[in-house]
Amino acid sequence: SSLYKVDGWGAPYFVVNSSGNISVRPHGRSTMSHQEIDLLKIVKKVSDPKSSGGLGLQLPLIVRLPDVLKNRLESLQSAFEFAIQTQGYEAHYQGVYPVKCNQDRFVVEDIVRFGSSFRFGLEAGSKPELLLAMSCLCKGNPEALLVCNGFKDAEYISLALLSRKMALNTVIVLEQEEELDLVIDISKKLSVRPVVGVRAKLRTKHSGHFGSTSGEKGKFGLNTFQILRVVKKLKEAGMLDCFQLLHFHIGSQIPSTSLLTDSVSEAAQIYCELVRLGANMQVIDIGGGLGIDYDGSKSAESDISVSYSLEEYSTAVVQSIRYICDRRNVKHPVLCSESGRAIVSHHSVLIFEAVSASVPAAPDMGSLGLQSFLEALTEDARADYRNLEAAAMGGEFETCLFYADQLKQRCVEQFKDGSLGIEQLAAVDGLCELVSKVIGSSDPVRTYHVNLSLFTSIPDFWGIGQLFPIVPIHRLEERPGVRGILSDLTCDSDGKIDKFIGGDSSLPLHELEGSGGGRGRYLLGMFLGGAYEEALGGVHNLFGGPSVVRVSQSDGPHSFAVTRATPGPSCGDVLRVMQHEPELMFETLKHRAEEYCGGGGGSSSGVDTDDDDHGMATNNNHNHNMNNNSALAS
Ligand code: PLP
Repeated sequence: SSLYKVDGWGAPYFVVNSSGNISVRPHGRSTMSHQEIDLLKIVKKVSDPKSSGGLGLQLPLIVRLPDVLKNRLESLQSAFEFAIQTQGYEAHYQGVYPVKCNQDRFVVEDIVRFGSSFRFGLEAGSKPELLLAMSCLCKGNPEALLVCNGFKDAEYISLALLSRKMALNTVIVLEQEEELDLVIDISKKLSVRPVVGVRAKLRTKHSGHFGSTSGEKGKFGLNTFQILRVVKKLKEAGMLDCFQLLHFHIGSQIPSTSLLTDSVSEAAQIYCELVRLGANMQVIDIGGGLGIDYDGSKSAESDISVSYSLEEYSTAVVQSIRYICDRRNVKHPVLCSESGRAIVSHHSVLIFEAVSASVPAAPDMGSLGLQSFLEALTEDARADYRNLEAAAMGGEFETCLFYADQLKQRCVEQFKDGSLGIEQLAAVDGLCELVSKVIGSSDPVRTYHVNLSLFTSIPDFWGIGQLFPIVPIHRLEERPGVRGILSDLTCDSDGKIDKFIGGDSSLPLHELEGSGGGRGRYLLGMFLGGAYEEALGGVHNLFGGPSVVRVSQSDGPHSFAVTRATPGPSCGDVLRVMQHEPELMFETLKHRAEEYCGGGGGSSSGVDTDDDDHGMATNNNHNHNMNNNSALAS
């Protein structure tokens, strides 16, 4: 576990168990009533069609753990409640979950259900997100906030105003000044009293990767002039009492509590000024930014780590706001945050398989005799060969490498001008490989081919170079014998993972034990990818997404129960995404097959658009969804 730093990034949810497998502690601890769940057992149960109740799902697989989600939500809530209590803060905390981090229906529904007793709400950034948030919150706590962020047109604003008519606690947060005219107009037409907030553009700048749009020149929010104009306009419209919330968001993954304190204090001053100007302020919404320690380093220097705990984060927020409000004699506001990454990152694990590995080429001069090899070379190349031989005899390793390299270059030149055959070129490649091996300079890093698409499943690695912990989920009692990089199954040179947490350019890996047959499978997990990755992933190369299972802790023999299973999209599904019509394609291919292959070749068992196998989970048109709620248009 220390090799892969599991204790650092995984605590308190992931541990290496006594069998050398990764186990989940869904409640953040292991007790008699909360047993660990071995990830390998989950994979076996859902992927092996022969196991009892086996579902035969294909990998890659997302294992969703609602118990972890519940624990994250409750930990965030109790961290704020503790800070509020210990500091005598005179208002409560009620957070919202920004659905953009993972809009999966069951994730959002779980969050609303788990957070209902403490008024946890949702944040939406677009019309479809608002629609899903509205419908989910109908089953939630009526006091839960529905924060509407993002660019807003008349339709978005009408929808948000209607949701207030439906007794949802919706706040329209102005991101642009023009949105206010629409809010005033439409609310009058619909006879709804809106609740309005503004997103302030703070001067405090988050300089890390995720804060590139913060600061005075940032992309989002209203500056001080604009905020003052909002106050004036609302006053003129007799609606200043509607202005109740101040929001800001300086970026994700805030590295330290000192930056957090800076931004929260600046926002608290604006809040107090708005109170002074007569707005009916109630809530300060500090946005997202609560970070995740992806590399386990607990360091503010690393872009993928943070130097504080949940408790330190909430203490810093409560302390800064209380201090400023007390000095200004302002009633403590209700605290809201929009943590996404910190709520959903841990709850899902992506599991995939290394299907093959490059074996270092065995040095081989082929069947070519030395004489015929040498005869084909130019005078200069022959001299290189003689010098190489002499350096080898004298044990001069650096000189050997020099002449081997020079010989190879001359041979490539000869091959290009047609004076050297492919057998001779292969022989010189083999000779150079042999020299590197003997001298110990050959590249020991292997390439492991893994059955996923980086573009679909880990888009942030490709897009912004974000690293996630990647670890074999079994065989951890064995010391890995080799190092490797991971190459995905797309035909794209970017489709490889060659940077790992800790700054390593390769990962310690075990030798593959032969393919197929279940026993020899080599399974890896990517952890902490529950936020953003699923929503950002595309269909590059038309690889579909992973299968998904939802696994809860239970008292059964395995200590877990699979409560929902959805195979990855079929080939037909991904083709439809790009406007193809699989049914028409099938007919075309069927006619072609009948024409060229005779009657039998065109049968539906020969060509089935929904049942092709890439080795990706795009091949299954059986729906194992236990609630019988089809995710597939089979
Ligand atoms: N709120 C807003 C307005 C955002 O833009 C974001 C994401 O960037 C979030 C909340 C979520 O941030 P995080 O995932 O860092 O909690």
